[in-house]
Amino acid sequence: MAASLHIAGIRKVFGKGAKAVEVLKKIDIDVAPGEFLILVGPSGCGKSTLLNIIAGLEEPTEGELRIAGKNVIGVAPAQRDIAMVFQSYALYPTMSVADNIGFALEMRKVPKAARLKRIHEVAAMLQIEQLLDRRPAQLSGGQRQRVAMGRALARDPQLFLFDEPLSNLDAKLRVEMRAEIKRLHLVSGITSVYVTHDQIEAMTLGSRIAVMKDGILQQIGTPDDIYRRPANTYVAGFIGSPT
Ligand code: ADP
Ligand code: MG
Repeated sequence: MAASLHIAGIRKVFGKGAKAVEVLKKIDIDVAPGEFLILVGPSGCGKSTLLNIIAGLEEPTEGELRIAGKNVIGVAPAQRDIAMVFQSYALYPTMSVADNIGFALEMRKVPKAARLKRIHEVAAMLQIEQLLDRRPAQLSGGQRQRVAMGRALARDPQLFLFDEPLSNLDAKLRVEMRAEIKRLHLVSGITSVYVTHDQIEAMTLGSRIAVMKDGILQQIGTPDDIYRRPANTYVAGFIGSPT
């Protein structure tokens, strides 16, 4: 069962006194179970800060955060049941692909038979079964990215957070991985929030897009809404709507 995500009135202030900077200003977003939401905006607008707050790597200054209806503020990151994929995906170089994917399960003391079953399920979803015995150095960039996703997926998280996972890849691979991520979402059905600063990526990947600027949510809607009915000139300019 996929989880919902409820973000209400989230504020984040870094620093104190005269040096205080409000990086997130009352963000409200609701993500439906199984939805793939894109969070787009220019560099420095607060996207990673919001993801880090969802993941529990940062605490919000104010606001409400619920996963599957349960308050998670104050809950340790490891207890939130979230997987995160970044652009830098450090695989364990001395371990096989199978062991990389199964590592988190081993840490959780999942018995070997169940672990192997899950490794094969995940590898099938990502179509990397033929790579399970290889080491990371024997993989291409795209294959490594798939293994990193497999490692995140193995734990069967209730929420998937992507922080610009494709920004280090070349243009051709980026297009290929976009399709891969879309397919993975279809087969896994895991509720996802995908951060990007790339308008094309936003318009092609998500069922809904949240546009952010300077820590303020400018608009949230389908790609069609955002393109045809931009809420303001900033959104229109950023997405490239005809004006
Ligand atoms: P984005 O991911 O959209 O590029 P970030 O969330 O990384 O933006 O950063 C938003 C703003 O918050 C930036 O101005 C950044 O410098 C600032 N910021 C991020 N993390 C910290 C921190 N730990 N301390 C102080 N300022 C921070
Ligand atoms: Mg960022």
